[in-house]
Amino acid sequence: MGHQILDGKALSRNIKDEIAAEVAEWVGQGHRPPHLAAVLVGQDGASRTYVDHKVKSCAQVGFDSTLIEREADITQDALLDIVASLNENPEIDGFIVQLPLPDHIDDQAVIEAISPRKDVDGFHPSNMGNLALGLPGFVPATPAGIMTMLERTGVETQGKHAVVIGRSSIVGTPMSLLLSRSDKPGNCTVTLCHSRTQDLAAHCRRADILVAAVGRPGMVTADMVKEGAIVIDVGITRVADDTAKRGFRLKGDVDFTAVADKCSWITPVPGGVGPMTIVSLLRNTLTAAQRSEEFA
Ligand code: NAD
Repeated sequence: MGHQILDGKALSRNIKDEIAAEVAEWVGQGHRPPHLAAVLVGQDGASRTYVDHKVKSCAQVGFDSTLIEREADITQDALLDIVASLNENPEIDGFIVQLPLPDHIDDQAVIEAISPRKDVDGFHPSNMGNLALGLPGFVPATPAGIMTMLERTGVETQGKHAVVIGRSSIVGTPMSLLLSRSDKPGNCTVTLCHSRTQDLAAHCRRADILVAAVGRPGMVTADMVKEGAIVIDVGITRVADDTAKRGFRLKGDVDFTAVADKCSWITPVPGGVGPMTIVSLLRNTLTAAQRSEEFA
């Protein structure tokens, strides 16, 4: 069966244009531009790339952005002080602390220190709780971006069987909640698979919608995919490649070449879920700016 590419890159460009138009209108009404801050700790190459993309994307839609960089040996208390000052700063609408943090810092303590109203990553327990209850709040950017992709395919998800591989709190778990909730897209019957799942392939073969969020390149093979399935590849792994300019290539969790022909829709890596994650973060930040106005 012929597959169609779920082109996150093109879709994210369209959505950025939509957000830029909303920002222009917002600013035209006399508001200052939405302002996102990002805190980057240490020198991890992938984290830097992600944060650079986020900052660059802010400029593309007319947001202000602030990048706060600290060495990997920053103390937890010093990082918590930065979080506290961002919480209090009325010029900042939303902020993120790029994960992972160095081992001596308790990620959860930092996440819980972020004001839920500025938690545009949606990782705070209060936002996760709202997601679980179907209440309004900030939804983590990667699963939110995937829901937008599904919405824009126009495919009916109601009653479909979705299988999510991976149960992390930033991707797999919120993804399973979003797919199951009574919404459009949504209303799926969801199976959440993880490292202790028995016979992963058998579960995957029953999926109308298969979301892979593990970080093991090529682990989803053609025999695991049902004919006509929608396949969403969240995985991003750097694989050494001497022929590539940077010395590595990005590989997804899905063996794209083998799987693509069986799918109705499939996301590429790169150019699939990644760019959608960034536009969802921008959307959350615009929402935060509009809400902070309500509280002002
Ligand atoms: P994680 O390491 O926190 O979680 C991985 C999950 O995979 C775990 O829940 C684990 O139970 C499961 N798992 C591990 N081995 C398994 C196996 N053999 N079979 C089934 N399940 C298994 O990872 P994460 O933060 O959720 O990220 C997953 C992947 O997605 C990574 O490659 C990451 O780089 C990528 N990612 C991409 C984006 C994006 O914007 N595209 C955003 C976040 C994460």
